Amino acid sequence: MADCIFCKIAAGEIPAAKIYEDELVFAFLDIAPINPGHVLVIPKEHHESASTIPEVTAGRMFHVGSRIGIALKRMENFDAYNLHLADGTAAGQVVMHAHLHVIPRGVNDQFHWNWRQVPYGDDAAREAVASEIRSKLHLD
Ligand code: 5GP
Ligand code: ZN
Repeated sequence: MADCIFCKIAAGEIPAAKIYEDELVFAFLDIAPINPGHVLVIPKEHHESASTIPEVTAGRMFHVGSRIGIALKRMENFDAYNLHLADGTAAGQVVMHAHLHVIPRGVNDQFHWNWRQVPYGDDAAREAVASEIRSKLHLD
């Protein structure tokens, strides 16, 4: 897509530190890493949302991302990794070409996910939410 920075990276029109490429996906270093070695895996085809990526390509993204994670675990200072995908602005998506973050992690990396988890009030409240999600879920 014109004016999409990640389409241009996948096409080789903008330089990036390439980690892996095949016919469906492209992986490269994030320009501003959480830790050195932070990789982004993208579909070569432009998709704003992960939800429209064809299943074969989305599966390839996960497969390649987790294999890159294993490579990161072999590096000094890292023995773990996070996979992260922000879908939508409110979720933190800044670049509107879907991308899977692969983030190397080590026990002493001083990085903390900013989780905020709040329990449901009771079983009925939890079941009402589960029921609503099921009623809105369409897999086709
Ligand atoms: P988001 O917040 O959309 O999930 O993440 C976008 C990521 O893309 C950020 O981590 C940011 O550092 C990275 N990024 C933005 N522009 C470029 C670029 O031109 N080149 C590379 N390699 N990474 C970029
Ligand atoms: Zn794009």
